[in-house]
Amino acid sequence: MSTDPLLDLENVDAGYGETQVLRDLSLSVGEGEVVSLVGRNGAGKTTTLRSIVGILTPTSGTVTYRGTDVTNLDATETVQHGLALVPEERQIFPELTVKENLELADYGGSPDVDSLSVGEALEMFENLKQRAPNPGSSLSGGEQQMLAIARALVGGADLILLDEPTEGLAPYIVRDVMDIVEDLNDRGITVLLVEQNVHVCLELADRNYLLNQGEIVYEGTSADLEEDKEILDRYLGVT
Ligand code: ATP
Repeated sequence: MSTDPLLDLENVDAGYGETQVLRDLSLSVGEGEVVSLVGRNGAGKTTTLRSIVGILTPTSGTVTYRGTDVTNLDATETVQHGLALVPEERQIFPELTVKENLELADYGGSPDVDSLSVGEALEMFENLKQRAPNPGSSLSGGEQQMLAIARALVGGADLILLDEPTEGLAPYIVRDVMDIVEDLNDRGITVLLVEQNVHVCLELADRNYLLNQGEIVYEGTSADLEEDKEILDRYLGVT
C-alpha cells in the first residue's frame, strides 16, 4: 500500500468573508479508508468539505488529491479529479425519475475517470433498481441518500465525501445507510464521513478526526476514541 495519502489537507484556513471558520486544519485520508470528521453543530464540518471540493477556496494552506494540488480548483474542476460531495440536502431532482437522475450524472461526469455505468449503479443499489422508473420525489430519506451516493459513483467519484448522511433519518434507515457505507468500503471506495453522531463514526470509521470550533482537537482510531471518555464528554457531550 502506498504511504502517500489519497487526500491531504495541510494547515488549511477557510471561512466566509471576514469570518474565519477553519484554523490550521490538517487531515489525511488514505486510499480505501473510511475516515470520519466528527463534531458538534457549527464546528466547521461542512466548511471543511466545501474547502476540499472547491466550493470555498482556503485562505491559506493546501489541499492535495492524488499528489495534485487542488487548493485553488473550483467544484467543477475537482469533480474531474474524482472528488464528489454528497451534500446533506442530497439535491435529488424530484421531477426526474431515479434512472434519469443517474443518467444526468453520467452525462455530467468526467470522461477521464473510471465511473460506474447507470446499469451497474442500479445493480449495486437494489432499492433504486426497483424504483428506477419512479420520480425522485417518491423516494424515502434513505433512498434519496442512496441515490445521491449512486449519482456520485456514476459521475466518476473515487473519494466520496458524505455530509451527515444519517441526519433526519429514522433509526432503522440509519442502519441501511450505514450498511451502504460499509458496502462502498468493501468495494474499495474511500469515504470521508462527516457526522454529528459519533456512534455512526465509531462503527464505520477506521480513523476519526474531532473538530471543535474549526480546529482538529483529536485524532484517533475508533477503538481509541471509544475508550477516551474524557474527550467524548468534553467535545461531544457523550459519555
Ligand atoms: P452543522 O452540523 O450545523 O452543519 P458544521 O460543523 O457543518 O455544522 P458549518 O456548516 O461548517 O458547521 O459552519 C461553521 C460555521 O460557519 C458556523 O458558525 C456557521 O454559522 C458558519 N457558516 C456556515 N455557512 C456560512 C455562510 N454561508 N456564510 C457565513 N457563515 C457561515
